[in-house]
Amino acid sequence: MMRIDGKALAETLRQTLAVRSQGFTVRAGRPAGLAVVLVGDDPASQVYTRNKEKAAQAASMHSVLHRLPVDATQVDVLTLVGALAADSAIDGILVQLPLPQHLDERAILDAVPPEKDVDGFHPINIGKLSLGLPSLVPCTPQGCVHLLRSVGCDIAGKHAVVIGRSNIVGKPMAQLLLAAHATVTIAHSRTANLPDIVRTADIVVAAVGRAEFVRGDWLKPGAVVLDVGINRVQTTDGKSRLVGDVHYDSAMQVASAITPVPGGVGPMTIACLLENTLIAAERRAGHA
Ligand code: NDP
Repeated sequence: MMRIDGKALAETLRQTLAVRSQGFTVRAGRPAGLAVVLVGDDPASQVYTRNKEKAAQAASMHSVLHRLPVDATQVDVLTLVGALAADSAIDGILVQLPLPQHLDERAILDAVPPEKDVDGFHPINIGKLSLGLPSLVPCTPQGCVHLLRSVGCDIAGKHAVVIGRSNIVGKPMAQLLLAAHATVTIAHSRTANLPDIVRTADIVVAAVGRAEFVRGDWLKPGAVVLDVGINRVQTTDGKSRLVGDVHYDSAMQVASAITPVPGGVGPMTIACLLENTLIAAERRAGHA
């Protein structure tokens, strides 16, 4: 069994992107620019956005974190996104989710111009992905494809089961696997006989949001398992720890390769955000 080291792969990708970013700065006369918008003070979102800002700076990009108060109005957020859309120094705009309940999330995501939509959530980018046209691809599924390739997994012809059909993970993941010529099954909360379906999978992507949901005895021997889930669970000593959507200890007995949590899919998501920012910058500058 191979433990897929997402942390190491993300570090390698970030180093490559830093070199590419420096090359962009020389050619364009300015660095690639990423703007991160954070509304409110959700602790996890604060950590995520800070990490994104720091990672972009470490890759020699121009990076700005814009904070709006939790009671910011729809107009406040749209005004900021509009200003960033018009700012020629900014190539990528990321609005951190979830947004406070009173805001219209879809309308805000739609206000990000598709060419600056480094999260790949705009309908134009989602449509292009399903048409097989060049687009900006959601970061987490893109990271999963990098991880599969890193372990030499030949996706073509394989049966991939994606558990979860969210717009940010499950659906784009299925599209990317389909584009790489896998035979794809998308499972969700209404799927009947899920363990039996998972047992037919060569590749399993778990994006469910339920701690240690997929068990080792659900897996076909030799399956490659990517665990997208991030779940915080209480331990008996009153502390907490992060676990994935896959029960790692039983799955590792059966899988040929598996991502741990933490240190698997998570680190790749930020690396792919940097990759998207650079792709957006190169396209905007006419370099790609
Ligand atoms: P969502 O809650 O949006 O989607 C969860 C999906 O799982 C839904 O499609 C749901 O089905 C399905 N599901 C729920 N319960 C079951 C069940 N019992 N059997 C089968 N399917 C089920 O979550 P996300 O896609 O946003 O995230 C999934 C996980 O990945 C979370 O743990 C999240 O924290 C993590 N995540 C990690 C990232 C990273 O960087 N590593 C990035 C993004 C997310 P239905 O549609 O029917 O409700």
